[in-house]
Amino acid sequence: MTKNTGSIHINQPLNTEVLPDILHRIHEEVIPAFGQGKVADYIPDLKCVEPHQFGLALRTVKGEEFTIGSADTAFSIQSISKLFTLMLALDIAGEALWERVGREPSGMRFNSLLLLDSEGGIPRNPFINAGAIVVTDIIAARSSSPVRRIEEFIASLSGNKDNRIDQQVAAGEKATGFRNIAIANLLKAMGNIEADVNQTLDCYFKQCAISMSCRDLARATECLANRGRSSFKSSFHAEAMDKRINSLMLTCGLYDAVGNFAYNVGLPAKSGVGGGIVAVSPGQYTVSVWAPELDHYGNSVLGQLALEKLTTYTQTSVF
Ligand code: GLN
Repeated sequence: MTKNTGSIHINQPLNTEVLPDILHRIHEEVIPAFGQGKVADYIPDLKCVEPHQFGLALRTVKGEEFTIGSADTAFSIQSISKLFTLMLALDIAGEALWERVGREPSGMRFNSLLLLDSEGGIPRNPFINAGAIVVTDIIAARSSSPVRRIEEFIASLSGNKDNRIDQQVAAGEKATGFRNIAIANLLKAMGNIEADVNQTLDCYFKQCAISMSCRDLARATECLANRGRSSFKSSFHAEAMDKRINSLMLTCGLYDAVGNFAYNVGLPAKSGVGGGIVAVSPGQYTVSVWAPELDHYGNSVLGQLALEKLTTYTQTSVF
């Protein structure tokens, strides 16, 4: 299957004929890793999620779908929502968004406050919490019902109206999210929050609490693999957005573990502390995995392992 040009390895077109067997093998091989991580316990409702669950859904740009495990079980997308709010805010504000958020990896935990003060209130990138809160603020300041706008945008991209906010998850995080509250208030003090800070925060907590399955996420991210086109939201043609967002995912999508992920998996991706990861093979497919147990960085243990095996067995790393 591998094509070699001297010592140069070239990534391969996805062979869907052998894919069911490969997914089956991946499923069997990742199960022994149950117990190696820990579910997110700083968000009250996530603490109660059954830890030993695993699902994967892969969708090709031709619309074929392949799944294993609990691919249709809805879970809390958490930081994966940052991908969708970035698409929406870029659609609203265009390149002006980058006057308020950077495009560099932070090398810090996703909820760190450390760089914010010394860097003038401009978060390093849109995927750490500080950057995502600014992105959400752009939507909050320019929409009459920002929460509904985000919720409807995501549901239209996945084609599933049931992709809704779990209000209990959102309320739990709002009651305990003191770091995010501190980040938003520091941003406000430094002049980088335009709307009412509590409204922006409310919106942020709610977007994180949207429930989706692996299949929904693989569908909702289709535009990133398919030159901006979405089968479910034909009015949304995110031209050139795929290039921009995929590069940001590759460099910032898994926080301070992004280098290792690029080394092991080699696909642009975005993770969330609900245990989901969505990854994009440009021009070929999108894939979403879910397994709630997280490593020290807040990324799904089995999810990372499954994606590493997927790009290895299918030779579809971008490198
Ligand atoms: N809602 C979570 C938080 O703000 C999202 C973090 C994540 O998924 N990495 O802490």
